[in-house]
Amino acid sequence: MTERIVIVGYGMAGARLAAELHARGGDRKVTVLGAEPHRAYNRILLSTLLAGKIGEPDVELVEVAGQGADVRTGTAVTAIDRAAREVRTADGDRHGYDHLVLATGSRALVPPLPGLEPLPDRVVPFRTLDDCRRILAAARGARRALVLGGGLLGLEAARGLAARGLDVTVVHPVGHLMERQLDEPAGAVLAGTLGGLGVRTRLGVTATGVAADADGIRLDLGDGDSLTADLLVLSCGVRPDTALAAAAGLAVDRGVVVDDRMRTSDRRISAIGDCAQHNGTLTGLVAPAWAQARVVAEVLTGADPLVRYRPRPVVTRLKAAGIDLAAMGDAAGAPDGGGPVEELTFADPARGTYARLRIRDERLTGAILLGDNPAVGTVVQLFDRGAPVPSDRRSLLLGRAFGAAPAAPAASPALMPDAATVCQCNDVSKGALVACWRAGARSAAELSAATRAATGCGGCRDAVAGIAGWLAEVDPAAGHQEPSTDRVEVAG
Ligand SMILES: Cc1cc2nc3c(=O)[nH]c(=O)nc-3n(C[C@H](O)[C@H](O)[C@H](O)COP(=O)(O)OP(=O)(O)OC[C@H]3O[C@@H](n4cnc5c(N)ncnc54)[C@H](O)[C@@H]3O)c2cc1C
Repeated sequence: MTERIVIVGYGMAGARLAAELHARGGDRKVTVLGAEPHRAYNRILLSTLLAGKIGEPDVELVEVAGQGADVRTGTAVTAIDRAAREVRTADGDRHGYDHLVLATGSRALVPPLPGLEPLPDRVVPFRTLDDCRRILAAARGARRALVLGGGLLGLEAARGLAARGLDVTVVHPVGHLMERQLDEPAGAVLAGTLGGLGVRTRLGVTATGVAADADGIRLDLGDGDSLTADLLVLSCGVRPDTALAAAAGLAVDRGVVVDDRMRTSDRRISAIGDCAQHNGTLTGLVAPAWAQARVVAEVLTGADPLVRYRPRPVVTRLKAAGIDLAAMGDAAGAPDGGGPVEELTFADPARGTYARLRIRDERLTGAILLGDNPAVGTVVQLFDRGAPVPSDRRSLLLGRAFGAAPAAPAASPALMPDAATVCQCNDVSKGALVACWRAGARSAAELSAATRAATGCGGCRDAVAGIAGWLAEVDPAAGHQEPSTDRVEVAG
């Protein structure tokens, strides 16, 4: 009998799983049920859309679920009947399953403030394409905008609105910005950089209420002050969407609890992406969501029944024009675990530059690099691979060579080790791109199509183009030098 797989949620994880299942072939019926009214899209790129750098057609996912799957958009699942092995939808349909995958993602958190229930017209969270459309509609003709929340997404929204000419203020309850990724001095340097780009910050102050009328929005603050604007964007964090799982009696903590094969407490039900909690951790990022989709596809198709999900180190980057920021590991807080730790910092606030490295046993356990630092690619590689750091640390901290320190590698794909991860979202190494070239790909677009590199956040597009350019020059098919090296270099 044909196996029936039902995927609840047509977002980045659900769409990827359907594509992964299709790619593995076989006789199974895949049904994708998505609450949003449109086809799955690249949610990561909403910040770039808000900033006006791309248009709506550009947020389409490169691989949308469609081929081989029965995709129902605008179809919210309202209940799971585990005994009957079927799900019910808001329009009264029932879909039977042999295996069910929950990919319900997260919801934007709306803070419990007076004046936000119901949400006034020009007060908008920032999570979905429809949210983005509403923000853009409200921004048209607006002069001033407020953003509640100075985390990563709040700052991306603020920078995007400022780039559209709005006067923007970010209100954040903590004493410094992006406190999950940054320490206090880095937060202060970032606030200065944002100030220069037209984004004001009000830090260490809570919002106490919102009042909205035809004239605009008023945000009341805990220090007695009030701010007024034409638009208020809420960026107060997200919560995994676990309601369906909890109502069905599955084990739920902060997210739906899963094992290494992404199975929930019911072996016929898996969970992936933002809604899943693996090993006590919620991810909230696309790279783990896509890695989890791959694991479930391997398990369900029997392609690799022994496969296990293994989390990789996370690197956070801010997608905001004029701000270069990469943060990773434990650099923002106390060191993880024991053992002597080496801390290195460099700050030049006037130039918007800050760097902090934390090293233990000759390996990076965390880093913050803010502002122009040519070593960023090398630092990310060393962190990602757990590789030893160079004996002269200054090259990493300041991004240039000292004395006999080796020259910068990031500028030259030839000097990148084959194991270096080029595309974090899809976990594509330089070696995989080289292998793909050898197999016949002849341009950056063909490398992307074959490996998926640069189809997530797009942050590695230049690196993939650089590698394609280098391979074109040294193409072994033309009988020149081997396009591969295993030298580990550090930036200088
Ligand atoms: C503006 C923005 C920028 C971001 N930038 C980055 C970034 O740079 N890097 C990064 O790694 N991550 C980023 N993220 C996070 C990333 O988008 C998420 O980690 C990713 O989308 C998770 O995929 P998912 O499929 O689990 O959840 P989602 O993409 O949220 O998809 C879940 C889907 O399930 C649907 N659904 C929920 N309940 C039901 C139901 N009962 N029935 C049917 N459908 C249902 C929802 O409507 C939604 O369409 C960003 C997010 C936002 C909002």
